[in-house]
Amino acid sequence: MKKGLLIVVSGPSGAGKGTICKELLKQRKDLNISISATTREPRKGEVDGVNYFFLGKNKFKEMIKSNEFLEHASVYDNFYGTPKKYVMDKLEKGEDVLLEIDIQGALKVKDIYPEGVFIFILPPSMEELKNRIVNRGTETKEAILKRFNSAYKEINFVFKYDYGVVNDKVQSAVDNIKAIMKAEKCRVNRQKELIKKIEEV
Ligand code: 5GP
Repeated sequence: MKKGLLIVVSGPSGAGKGTICKELLKQRKDLNISISATTREPRKGEVDGVNYFFLGKNKFKEMIKSNEFLEHASVYDNFYGTPKKYVMDKLEKGEDVLLEIDIQGALKVKDIYPEGVFIFILPPSMEELKNRIVNRGTETKEAILKRFNSAYKEINFVFKYDYGVVNDKVQSAVDNIKAIMKAEKCRVNRQKELIKKIEEV
């Protein structure tokens, strides 16, 4: 059976990857989002099992030991990880899976699963990025500064990705991702079985 697409989306804090992924999921009901595990505290309104699986450090470490993560990384002093089984089961069934993870995690996934589609969300400008981080208002001043400084460094990683999508307007960014998915599904090396069948007739 043809495997599903693994779409990995990352980008600096404030680039708007969360908003884009949410909108993409609304418009593509067949797309599965992988819910990550994290040791960070839930923010207001976040629900365990919906936004994240909120775990204690010990439980997280246990899961690392028993090889339950596709990747895991330490981001802003907390651990984050992608549970492996959910992702692999969906892909095997031919369903597409979306991962919204940080750059370290994405690069690890690229090493072990290079057939994934790696998309980097870019802000229209650094000025706009700063405004977005500040206006989000969920972080302390110190955390904002930390996120902005790492965002500056992170932009350079765009060249490790397959695609760069600028988030000037959410819908146009979503349209671009949908177009990328469509094109990726037409890649010859993803259609080997189908092409073999055509050749047989
Ligand atoms: P936040 O705490 O704002 O929800 O997420 C912080 C960062 O962690 C974001 O860049 C987000 O994409 C990333 N992240 C969320 N889940 C995972 C995961 O499972 N693995 C990795 N490596 N990063 C993640």
